[in-house]
Amino acid sequence: MIVVMDLHVGEKELQAVENVLQQYGYRCHLIRGEQRIVIGAVGATKGEIPPVLETMPGVEKVLRVMQPYKLVSREMKPDDTVIRTGSVCLGGGYVSVLAGPCAVESLEQLITAAREVKKYGAAALRGGAFKPRTSPYAFQGLMETGLEYLRRAREETGLAVVTEVMNPADVELVAETADIIQIGARNMQNFPLLKEVGQLRRPVLLKRGLAATVEEWLMAAEYIMSGGNYQVILCERGIRTFETSTRNTLDVSAIAVAKRLSHLPVIADPSHAGGNWRLVQPLALASLAAGADGLLVEVHPDPQSALCDGPQSLNPQHFGELMAAVEGLVALLGKKLVRGVERQ
Ligand code: PEP
Ligand code: MN
Repeated sequence: MIVVMDLHVGEKELQAVENVLQQYGYRCHLIRGEQRIVIGAVGATKGEIPPVLETMPGVEKVLRVMQPYKLVSREMKPDDTVIRTGSVCLGGGYVSVLAGPCAVESLEQLITAAREVKKYGAAALRGGAFKPRTSPYAFQGLMETGLEYLRRAREETGLAVVTEVMNPADVELVAETADIIQIGARNMQNFPLLKEVGQLRRPVLLKRGLAATVEEWLMAAEYIMSGGNYQVILCERGIRTFETSTRNTLDVSAIAVAKRLSHLPVIADPSHAGGNWRLVQPLALASLAAGADGLLVEVHPDPQSALCDGPQSLNPQHFGELMAAVEGLVALLGKKLVRGVERQ
């Protein structure tokens, strides 16, 4: 349920309303939007509306949210959520590109990648230290050493760092390093993991599952928000279909649908969608045209030697070309591309 409060409501009135809601078994989330203050009341199994509510001082109106996701929905918060960390800015007309290798392989590889993506205007460095691989025999990531290298790359370049966590037990460890914590497609419905990152107060990049509906994806985001972590970035990374000419099928419509249903920023990962570096630019531009607030792109200093996802990784030169195209389209869309640093 949404309790829309008067914009100038005092703390005492807010507290009184929350007390009544809590008596009815609700958990309250205070959401201060640009145009209004609302209390998102969730979690009461009976879902009864306390009769006194509408008569209480400061209460403008009480609305039921029809969708199963509540805090995530645009009904709860009509204006876009803008997520800022370091130089990353996503949502509300701001676009950022997060780029880097699939996996952290060595200090040299990571620092080179970081310098290159920074040079062309990425706002953050991505790189996996814990890698979810289909084969147990494939490179699993450098783990703690990988996290250390990510910290070194951040010191060196000033770029914010995005990295994945796979195991609820590692959330604290990964959060010591990551500016943005990534939940991979395979873990989109790992509910203990979602609950754990819901306890953080740090942005979470939530990838859509390989075969998840938009509703399931938004419900996964609801798990994180219901823990009190409101900084969720949705990421469309392609879904599994009958088509075999691409690694996955980029669901462009899901970007537009998620933007309509939710106030959260939505970004796209054209690298895992297409699975081929030649497809990255067209898929990236299509995503932005459909309303994406940013991109997650794999870039490797030498894709041919990559230990993970080389065929879909851009080399630095191709990343530069992508960024030039992105810059043009973002301007055409009337949005602002936020770069890590000004071009050198
Ligand atoms: C990744 O970003 O490297 C990754 C493993 O992505 P996904 O979870 O989308 O497959
Ligand atoms: Mn990858």
